[in-house]
Amino acid sequence: MSVRKIIHLDMDAFYASVEQRDFPELRGKAIAVGSEKNRGVVAAASYEARKFGVRSAMPSSQAAKLCPHLIFMPPRFPVYKEVSREVREVFYGYTDLVEPLSLDEAYLDVTEPKKGPLSAILLAKSIKADIKESTQLTASAGVAAGKFLAKIASGMNKPDGLSAILPHQAEDFISQLKIEDFFGIGKATAAKMHQLGIYNGGDLRRQSLEVLVENFGKAGWRYYDLARAIDDRPVNPNRETKSISAETTFTDDTTDLRFLEDKLRKLSTSVSQSLMNKNFYAKTIGIKLKYHDFVIKTRSESREPLQEAVDLYRISRHLLHKDPLESPLRLIGLVASNLIPASDMNQQGEQLRLDFGL
Ligand SMILES: [Mg+2]
Repeated sequence: MSVRKIIHLDMDAFYASVEQRDFPELRGKAIAVGSEKNRGVVAAASYEARKFGVRSAMPSSQAAKLCPHLIFMPPRFPVYKEVSREVREVFYGYTDLVEPLSLDEAYLDVTEPKKGPLSAILLAKSIKADIKESTQLTASAGVAAGKFLAKIASGMNKPDGLSAILPHQAEDFISQLKIEDFFGIGKATAAKMHQLGIYNGGDLRRQSLEVLVENFGKAGWRYYDLARAIDDRPVNPNRETKSISAETTFTDDTTDLRFLEDKLRKLSTSVSQSLMNKNFYAKTIGIKLKYHDFVIKTRSESREPLQEAVDLYRISRHLLHKDPLESPLRLIGLVASNLIPASDMNQQGEQLRLDFGL
């Protein structure tokens, strides 16, 4: 197979940068997009605010403590959506193989670009310049032969960054990459990797496929490939958002319902954030239970379209308690499906709630 050229483009501090662009008095200032009110959450933070430790998905109260002069701006999703559309127009000038991940991020396959230089690095430079020209905003780009490394590369030099991990550099790069930074490896999986003596890609590469599958189930195959810089996942231009989910694997298998409720509360916040970012309401809420033996069971319930964390938590908690657990769990997940675009909610005369109050 010939080598692909993949670019991951990621707008820098997207919502916050749009606010600073449209309100010049905010430039150079620590700002957070999100609701300041009780139990609000930061949706995006300017780089000036990040210096104080303010991060997205952080409770607004915590952000205000870290950065007392933080300016909160209410989100303006219609504007972000329009800017996102402009950015995608730029992408489509170069390739039809564009896979948006959210309003501010996308993968592009530029193996055979419609225009521009042949070098993927020069192409990325040109795309960044076009985005700047069309939106006055900066994006960071990562270039690699696969999605995993392209995405890591785009995060290496933010803001306004451009980094490449070329095919001949990929294996060395992965060898020194911390296991926490691998695609699909969360905290719990990383902890388990540590127990096996795996701290970086080099350690991972020394494990046999058998050991990885025994410890991580099907994901073991993926880790085995990623350690060898094998990442053939195509850039999928038709990817439609059918569901939005988040899950968490535990360090130790558990039946502790209090602990599981706490996890569901965190997952509710995260899924709610994604629903808001992607402008969806969900009619069906489900939980995914993965037992210690890797058997997966799901429970779900459909009702009026919802988006807020407090509603997701209420339903998922109810689903958790509906039936007793069969045995200890190794993972719990929350899935929002049956998605309805927020614009359709408007047409139905429902009130569109754009604030980040929880
Ligand atoms: Mg971004």
